[in-house]
Amino acid sequence: MTVLIVGSVAFDDLDGPHGKRTDVLGGSATYASVAASFFSRVALVAVVGEDFPESAMSMLAGKGVDLVGLERVPGRTFRWSGRYSDDLASRTTLDTQLNVFESFRPALSDSHRATPYVMLGNIHPTLQRDVVSQCEGRRFVIADTMNFWIEGQNAALRETLRHIDALVINEEEARMLSGAHNIVRAAEAIRAMGPRIVAIKRGEYGAIVFEPDGVFVAPAYPVRDVVDPTGAGDTFAGGFLGYLAHASEVTPATLRHAVVVGTTLASFCVEDFGLDRLVRVTRSEIAARYRELARIVHFATEDEVARFA
Ligand code: AMP
Repeated sequence: MTVLIVGSVAFDDLDGPHGKRTDVLGGSATYASVAASFFSRVALVAVVGEDFPESAMSMLAGKGVDLVGLERVPGRTFRWSGRYSDDLASRTTLDTQLNVFESFRPALSDSHRATPYVMLGNIHPTLQRDVVSQCEGRRFVIADTMNFWIEGQNAALRETLRHIDALVINEEEARMLSGAHNIVRAAEAIRAMGPRIVAIKRGEYGAIVFEPDGVFVAPAYPVRDVVDPTGAGDTFAGGFLGYLAHASEVTPATLRHAVVVGTTLASFCVEDFGLDRLVRVTRSEIAARYRELARIVHFATEDEVARFA
């Protein structure tokens, strides 16, 4: 199954306890595409400027990502810069330049319109909406967003939320969007806005998923050396949807696996700057960490649970 991913393709300037990096390849769609490519075919829909290098195109093509929907137009590629706190637990956006995204109106090909699994990566909610309305063959649509859009484009974001199945969002942003501090209440409020599934990312603490059949909590893999958390959220979302497309059904069981796959991939992403670790990771490294995570969270067999309670 193919996954269609729209979102930002960017150059990032990053500043944190492990140093500064400039012009790092990033963007929500870039991280999500590489992550999803481990499990399914990926078609990327985005725009870049004349400054976008061939090397980045070949990296994505090398991951099997279909680049037919990646337009190159005159102007500069999207740019974002952020600074992390010393404990890497929070970050401040220093600058966001939409550049070529200001006037991007994607026209999807027939095969892209037929794609069943769709990810509306973090980008202007109107652009997300524009893409989802063209996806006539959609079966399952997830979206991501961030404070920049929650604050600046709230009405447009609310409209997008009415057309998706799942929202992937971080804890702070879930509070901002819902106005509720408690995470359970926040998820309930967001589900009332449209998505029947809400996956809340909690950084180094993992993720918690609210869906019609209940709640699932997945811890993050305990990473020893976190270098740069940029893109961890998009990597989570891309891995999550890539796995669901591979499983080709969305059930409470596949959702659980998808969350663990997403957190496993995100744990690699944070080990180096930008995409450096994610592009190098192998299928067997992913499988090994997935198995380890399964061992880490296991605490009782069903019989043991029954004996206790
Ligand atoms: P994450 O760390 O998962 O939140 O994703 C970070 C990535 O999101 C960076 O590579 C940025 O280029 C990209 N990004 C940051 N702000 C925005 C925005 N307002 N719209 C779209 N992408 C963004």
